[in-house]
Amino acid sequence: MSATETSIRDCLHFIGGEWVEPGGGSRFDDTDPFTGDVVAHVADGSREDARAAVEAAAAAFPEWSQTPPAARQAIFLKAADILEGRRDEVVEWLARETGCTFGFGMFQMGFVPGLFRQAAGAAYAPTGTVVPSDLPGAFSMGVRRPVGVVGAISPWNAALILSARAIAAPLVFGNTVVLKPSEESPYVGGLLWGEIFAEAGLPPGVLNVVTHGRGRAGPIADELVESPHVRRINFTGSTATGRKLAEAAGRNLKRVVLELGGQNPLIVLADADLDYAVSASAFGAYLHQGQICMSARKIIVERPIAEEFTSRLAEKTAGLSLGDPKEHETIIGPLITERALETVKGRVDDAVRQGARVLAGGEAVGPCFQATLLADVPPDAELARVETFGPVAAIEVVDSGEEAVAHANATTYGLAAGILTSNPDRGLALAEQLQSGIVHVNDQPVHDEPQMPFGGVKDSGWGRFGGTFAMDEFTELRWITVQSGTRPFPF
Ligand code: NAD
Repeated sequence: MSATETSIRDCLHFIGGEWVEPGGGSRFDDTDPFTGDVVAHVADGSREDARAAVEAAAAAFPEWSQTPPAARQAIFLKAADILEGRRDEVVEWLARETGCTFGFGMFQMGFVPGLFRQAAGAAYAPTGTVVPSDLPGAFSMGVRRPVGVVGAISPWNAALILSARAIAAPLVFGNTVVLKPSEESPYVGGLLWGEIFAEAGLPPGVLNVVTHGRGRAGPIADELVESPHVRRINFTGSTATGRKLAEAAGRNLKRVVLELGGQNPLIVLADADLDYAVSASAFGAYLHQGQICMSARKIIVERPIAEEFTSRLAEKTAGLSLGDPKEHETIIGPLITERALETVKGRVDDAVRQGARVLAGGEAVGPCFQATLLADVPPDAELARVETFGPVAAIEVVDSGEEAVAHANATTYGLAAGILTSNPDRGLALAEQLQSGIVHVNDQPVHDEPQMPFGGVKDSGWGRFGGTFAMDEFTELRWITVQSGTRPFPF
C-alpha cells in the first residue's frame, strides 16, 4: 500500500510463515485516533490462535537455534534495508494507527534499522566463558544457549521501536518468538514484522504474530504465560498490566522482562543554560504528546532561575502547534483513545481542584490535549503519584540539589531522569543518588539508542533490553564441564 493510500487493510495472524484467519473468524476495527476512521480490519484472536502460534514457534526452534550466525545476521541486515525502503509508508502508518507525529515517526524509522543492524552484529557476540576449576583435569565453561520460545507483548506508544525491540534480541540469540502487539497498533507494531521478516528470509515459524480486539489480551497472554514451550516473556507496557503479568508468571515460575511506566524527573539546576533548559524541557515533556515511558513528568527547578525558566517554558508550551499528526509541522497530535483523553483531562482537573495552577494548556481540543504546564500540584494528587500518559508536566521549585534529588526520588517509579546543568561533576554526583534505571546529565530523560542498557528500577520494572545486555534475558547460562582422564572418587 502506498503512503497516501487510504483503503482499509485486512490483517490476519502471521503463524508458521502463513497469513492465517483467526479461529473464530472475526475481525475488529483498527482506527485512526485523530479522525476516528477505520484503517484496518484486524484478526480478533483467541487463546487457541495463540496456542497455534506457540506450537509453530516451538516446531521452528530446533532448526533456528542451530542456524549459523552468518544466516541470522544476513536476515537482520536485509530486514533493515527492507524497512528503510518502506520509510514513507511506515511513517504514514504510524500516524494513521497511533497518532504519531511526523517527527517522532521519523525518529522511530531512524532507530529501528539501527536496532536491526546492531542485532545483526550481536549474532557474533561471544556466548561463553571459561571458568577456572579447582578440579584437576576439569575444563569448565559457562555457555549461553537460546531458551526456546519467547513471548513478546508490546505497547502501542512507540509501536515500531518497542515491537522491534521485543523481537530483535530474542530472535538473534536463536530463540523463536510469538509477538502479541497492542490492539491499538496491530499492524505497525506487529504484523508489519511478519511481512518484512518473511521477505528477509526468516524461516516459517521463527516469528509469529497474533492480534486481538480491544480488552481481549488476557487469554492470549494466559497462553504465553502457561504454555510450557514458552520459556521467557518480555513485556513493555503499563505498571498495572505488568504487575498482573508478573503475578501470573510467578505462579508459573516463568522469567519475565518488565519494561513499565515512569514518573520521570527532570532536574534543572541554577547553573543550567536557560535557552537549552527550556527547549530540553519542552521536548522531554511533550514529544509524542507525552505518551513516552521516559517523558519528563515533573520538572524540578532550583529557585534562583525558577521564575524566569518557568515563564519561558510556559510561553513555549502554549505555542506548540496541535492538530493532525499527518501535517508535518504538528507537534501535539491526538491521544491514543478517548479514554486516554478523559483520563488526562480528569487528572489535570483533579489537580487544579486541589490547588494546582495551570501555567499553559489544560484543555482538550478534539482528540488532542493541549501541551500543559502546571505548578503547585499537591503531592497526593493522582497526577503527582501515578504516570499520566499525556502532554502534562508539573513544575516543582527546590532550594538545593539535594532537595531536588529527594523530590525526584519521591515516587514509586524509577525509569529515566535528566539533570540539566553546566557542571558535569555536580550533575554526575546527583545522578548517582537518583533511583532510576537511566539518568542523562545535561539532557532530558527521553533518549534511547539500540545498544544501551535500557530498563527501570522500582515500579518501572526489571530486566534490560539493548545490545548484548539483552543476552542475560534471552539466553540460558549453562555450566558445562569436560573432565580429561579420570578423577578419583572416595568410594
Ligand atoms: P498497556 O499496559 O495497556 O498494554 C501493554 C500491552 O499489554 C498491550 O499489548 C496490551 O494488549 C497488553 N495487555 C493488556 N492486558 C493484558 C493482560 N491482562 N495480560 C497481558 N498483557 C496485557 O500499556 P499501553 O497503554 O499499551 O502502553 C503505555 C504504557 O507502557 C505506559 O505506562 C508506558 O510508560 C509504558 N511503556 C514502557 C516502556 C519501557 O520501556 N519501560 C516503553 C513504552 C511504554
